[in-house]
Amino acid sequence: MKCIMCNGKTMSKTVEHKEFGVSLGSFPASVCEKCSEIYFDEKTAETIQKKSQELGLFGLAKKVKVAEIGNSIAIRIPKSIGTFLNLKKGAEVTIFPETKHDIRIHV
Ligand SMILES: [Zn+2]
Repeated sequence: MKCIMCNGKTMSKTVEHKEFGVSLGSFPASVCEKCSEIYFDEKTAETIQKKSQELGLFGLAKKVKVAEIGNSIAIRIPKSIGTFLNLKKGAEVTIFPETKHDIRIHV
């Protein structure tokens, strides 16, 4: 097949698929030789989604609104992400900007 992103040639490979740093396993895929874009067929994509749901990773990314508390701004961490990170009240974390568009919280 041709790559949708760059029109390059793809080759069949087995690739490991990770979500949020958790490996879901290795799956057959078409990988672009030029830009490395990875394509899974429909059946494989379904298998990956099922595995992701089993592991509680599916839909873990959430949009939240920035709030204000006194002189600080606050971002609530959804319960599902707190559970995934095993984050509990009173835990100490380190927060820092990773880039101008990403924030990182090390737990
Ligand atoms: Zn490509």
